[in-house]
Amino acid sequence: MLSRSAFIGSSLGISAMAAMRSPAAALAAAPPGASIVPPRIDAGRVIRTVVGLRPFRAAGFVLRAEPFGAKVLVHNYGHGGGGFSLSWGCATLAADFVADRSPARAAVLGCGVIGLTTARILQNRGWQVTIYASALPPMTTSNVAGAQWTPTTVFTTDGATPAFLDVFRKAARIANRAFQLMVGPAYGVRWLDNYVLKPDAQESGGEIDYATRVGIADLYADVEPVDPATVPFVGYKSIMRFSTMLMEPNTFLPAVQRDFLLQGGHIVVRSFRAPSEIAALHEPVVFNCTGLGSRALFGDTMLEPVRGQLTILEPQAAVDYIYLVSDPLLYMFPRSDGIVLGGTWERGNWSTTPDVATQARVLSGHEALFRKD
Ligand SMILES: Cc1cc2nc3c(=O)[nH]c(=O)nc-3n(C[C@H](O)[C@H](O)[C@H](O)COP(=O)(O)OP(=O)(O)OC[C@H]3O[C@@H](n4cnc5c(N)ncnc54)[C@H](O)[C@@H]3O)c2cc1C
Repeated sequence: MLSRSAFIGSSLGISAMAAMRSPAAALAAAPPGASIVPPRIDAGRVIRTVVGLRPFRAAGFVLRAEPFGAKVLVHNYGHGGGGFSLSWGCATLAADFVADRSPARAAVLGCGVIGLTTARILQNRGWQVTIYASALPPMTTSNVAGAQWTPTTVFTTDGATPAFLDVFRKAARIANRAFQLMVGPAYGVRWLDNYVLKPDAQESGGEIDYATRVGIADLYADVEPVDPATVPFVGYKSIMRFSTMLMEPNTFLPAVQRDFLLQGGHIVVRSFRAPSEIAALHEPVVFNCTGLGSRALFGDTMLEPVRGQLTILEPQAAVDYIYLVSDPLLYMFPRSDGIVLGGTWERGNWSTTPDVATQARVLSGHEALFRKD
């Protein structure tokens, strides 16, 4: 594993490195656990509960180009629980499919994180882009995302092929670099310490084990064990710390949408019921970034919803770190629009209605992490 400074140094050029070093160095100076303020967790602090359906495929996302009548159709959908993290990478690889064509007009179907980033990459390569989507931010699944830079829960170990994993690693690398260069309040991206909590050292699983297994561990900075006595989490004997980025969807998505419009892009609110309606569009190249919508629109029955419910507490500025527990699933993201408490991972559940019992379980699970009795 790389130290944080080695990681940044290996990933960026000298000038970018200088620009990023100060916040990282300041973080590195703090001993593990020094800045862990427990969040104040109780039902009275809940400001909203949101539900999103992750567009999950056991075999992983679909990234492919195919002829579509006289058009070219590029699919870029099905990113499960890691679509935010992979967005810029999959967008770049999707645009590469038409790299040998002269830039012309392109239609992008979908205005979530995948559609917006695909549209921006195309614009940067000279394409004139129109986004067609039935829902725009803040009404997309992408607005519900956590959204931490951890491209996890994107496929199953049995489902993914070696060829897919190669593409996955490529996309993860491109996207990680892209988000590094967007750190700051304009896009709502920042580096944060993560604490991975396990009941004992023998238990496998967790973010770093996963990243090692799939070959992207070098994208996680400053991985180190933490002495449980130095942190306020109760009942966890094995604690690892690493550093990654947290994206604020409600800052990032409007910012990228604004960039798209300022670059001359157009957005049309429209719902497609059948491929024939897409064939009638005037753009010769179409990118399908409809997420879970691809199941009905293109008949991809491998695509399934994985329901996630998040309980949001009022913002708490002193809470400035993330924690992750795999079993039972619990995670906390400190965002400027609230303290985000997960987690749920319900395969095949199409309900977008918040569940009161789930909220109570999530609140008491998080509260117990800090209970000293
Ligand atoms: C609770 C939760 C937590 C998450 N946390 C993280 C995280 O920490 N990190 C991370 O990387 N990812 C996370 N994700 C996953 C991430 O949110 C998704 O992978 C990502 O948002 C998918 O983006 P998308 O653009 O493909 O889909 P969407 O955001 O759903 O956008 C799809 C777009 O297509 C349009 N569309 C669909 N069908 C049609 C149609 N027929 N006609 C016209 N338009 C159509 C929609 O209107 C929308 O504009 C989380 C997800 C959830 C639910």
